[in-house]
Amino acid sequence: MILSMPTLMAAIVLTSTVLALSIAAVAYRRSRALWIWALALTAHTLAFIVTAMRAQFGDFWTITIGNTLLATTFALFAAGLLEFQQRRRPRWLTWEPVPVVVMGSMVWLDHSGARSIITSTVLILQCLFILLALIGQRRQVAGRGQYLLMVGFSLLVMVIGYRVVEAVSGRIEVLSSQVTGPIQTATLLASIVTLMLLAAGMTLMNQERAEHELAENRKVLKERNLALQEYAAELETANQKLAELSITDGLTGLANRRRFDEALALESARAQRTGQPLAILMIDIDRFKSYNDHHGHQAGDVCLTRVARVLQSSARRPGDLVARYGGEEFTVITADTDADKAAGLAQALCSAVAALDIAHDHSMHGKITVSIGFAAAVPDQDNGGTALLRRADAALYEAKEAGRNRVAAG
Ligand code: GH3
Ligand code: MG
Ligand code: MG
Repeated sequence: MILSMPTLMAAIVLTSTVLALSIAAVAYRRSRALWIWALALTAHTLAFIVTAMRAQFGDFWTITIGNTLLATTFALFAAGLLEFQQRRRPRWLTWEPVPVVVMGSMVWLDHSGARSIITSTVLILQCLFILLALIGQRRQVAGRGQYLLMVGFSLLVMVIGYRVVEAVSGRIEVLSSQVTGPIQTATLLASIVTLMLLAAGMTLMNQERAEHELAENRKVLKERNLALQEYAAELETANQKLAELSITDGLTGLANRRRFDEALALESARAQRTGQPLAILMIDIDRFKSYNDHHGHQAGDVCLTRVARVLQSSARRPGDLVARYGGEEFTVITADTDADKAAGLAQALCSAVAALDIAHDHSMHGKITVSIGFAAAVPDQDNGGTALLRRADAALYEAKEAGRNRVAAG
């Protein structure tokens, strides 16, 4: 099959124009490397348009400009590839071939053999330079795209190499772009195939890199998300701890005064709603000042902690709250508890503290004891939790007056 030269020229011009436009469309706002390749393909289109117009513009201009454009095409291919590989460009290696081809075309304008040899050799060197860049960086740019480029440029080296061999053997007429023949048909068809390989290869390389970056970004995002979740969980735990600390007494670990005030308001309102009785116990350690004075403050602290622990373990119903009211005074709020049950609980607590048997030589009982005042009622609008607390406090005073280590009802 021998195709006429004008048909082949038209086909090659059409192919590189369409490929240049397609690559520019893919490159839009994305890849500088692809833009450079679109430019390379445009230079290729122009090179063949100029060569096709030899009859109109004469040898000098068409040969010089055509060859210059062809060398520029390969320089742009190299520049685009190096841009893609993000390598510091050896600029002179990329662009030096262009002036060499310009000079060669001008100097050997009338010697088509020598001109063909010099131009083709430079083009081969350009292709080899690109192939070396591809092979050198193949690990960084893994994927199928680079293999398409390798095949494409190798094919070009073979086609152009064949032209050099023909030129060196003196069969220059078979190479002329002005003559239709089997060599021209094969050469230009191979060029069309190569152009397609190059365009597809570079596009694929860009796509593969984009996919790789996307996967990397996803990985990073996932890791960050995980770290963020861990951080949120830590923050949540710290917040919970902080919230707990703000309502806990540092020495005894019991609920503190703030928590007690909240619970009193809450339980009082609940009892008002349900109509169930609410009881409050006020507990005060007997003669604690003299315990401190004789055993020291540290022993006093240990004693407070032990009393707190025994109170806590003796009032464990779900509706019970044991709190440190302040100093050596404790309170118990106990829901759904009438006066009888409150008296029972108060007595149990009083006995439990005495049973600890903490020696206290300056107490009439010879050990640490507590006095407890309690009050129980169904709270109403006028007599809520605060009134109950006042009554319990008054009862505590009575218990103290009556001799301590006892319980009194308010
Ligand atoms: P009463 O039987 O009348 O209650 O006599 P009391 O000595 O217990 O009462 P008073 O209010 O005079 O003394 C309370 C003492 O409790 C005074 C203070 O030194 C002691 N106290 C209060 N808070 C702490 C504390 O956190 N640690 C220690 N070690 N002692 C405390
Ligand atoms: Mg007191
Ligand atoms: Mg006391």
